[in-house]
Amino acid sequence: EAKESGRDGCALYSPELDDKASRNLWMQNELRHAISRAELFLVFQPIVDARGELVCAEVLLRWQHPEKGLISPAEFIPVAEGSGLIVEIGQWVLLEVCRVIKRLEAQGCEVPPMAVNISARHFNQQEFAERLIALLKGQQVMPQQLELELTEYALLTNLKLISERMQILRQAGISIAIDDFGTGYSSLSYLQSLPLSRLKLDAAFVSRIGSSDAADAIVRAIIDMAHSLRLAVVAEGVETQLQRDFLDELQCDFFQGYLFSKPIGEAEFAARLGAETFTQPQASA
Ligand code: C2E
Ligand code: MG
Ligand code: MG
Ligand code: MG
Repeated sequence: EAKESGRDGCALYSPELDDKASRNLWMQNELRHAISRAELFLVFQPIVDARGELVCAEVLLRWQHPEKGLISPAEFIPVAEGSGLIVEIGQWVLLEVCRVIKRLEAQGCEVPPMAVNISARHFNQQEFAERLIALLKGQQVMPQQLELELTEYALLTNLKLISERMQILRQAGISIAIDDFGTGYSSLSYLQSLPLSRLKLDAAFVSRIGSSDAADAIVRAIIDMAHSLRLAVVAEGVETQLQRDFLDELQCDFFQGYLFSKPIGEAEFAARLGAETFTQPQASA
């Protein structure tokens, strides 16, 4: 129901917008308590090399709401970003991943580097790097255990500042990847000026492999460009053997997707890493 009219007579509020706005508001309120109510948890998705060996795992956040059930990060992360809660949530993820690494090590696992998604708003906080380095030190986790995934949005503000922050992280031993590569609006020139180690080719490009010559050419161009800048490429959302074979032929370095593994819970991940002791396997999410 339109509550007000705009200048040119257009409704400013539609029922659909109302629903969306109130769901956002509801989610914002519920998210505020999600950490203290222990409703957030992490799942892990293997990233493999050309031989199919696990070399890294992406850490993905899940929200189990007591009434609404499992809520997707694609839905609640943007809400958390809008309200500023993302910083608190992001810090929780970083602390929790440290605890997971320590638990897995205690079970005798050789833990691969863990890639954590960091929102632009979080990364752009003052002292982000110093705070993270202190956290790792306090938790006794080697910086080499951590990789950060940033989208191009994180690079849109002050490139000089961002570059300095990345240098601090890299010097400490933390590597940085650009996530969802190809979907952002930033210029390509930043790629050569930043201390990055990987590009993650967005799943949208991977899913179009084989659909047209143009789609294939784009994938080829991105991989070739990354390699000429000495950046490794991770293909995201690899679901079919055809996609894998095509990417293999282009010398794509790493693969992630349902063809290899869905995101899995900690116990299943531990089992996959060959833990000496593990309890009940958790359900995958
Ligand atoms: P992302 O970082 O690009 O993560 C990859 C997404 O693709 C994940 O969705 C993953 O489950 C999904 N995926 C992996 N393989 C396949 C596949 O073969 N097919 C398809 N269709 N999907 C696949 P998820 O877990 O729902 O996360 C969605 C997005 O939410 C992530 O995209 C990331 O941007 C954000 N996110 C997740 N966890 C966190 C977090 O801890 N912090 C922040 N800031 N963002 C997060
Ligand atoms: Mg990611
Ligand atoms: Mg991605
Ligand atoms: Mg994505």
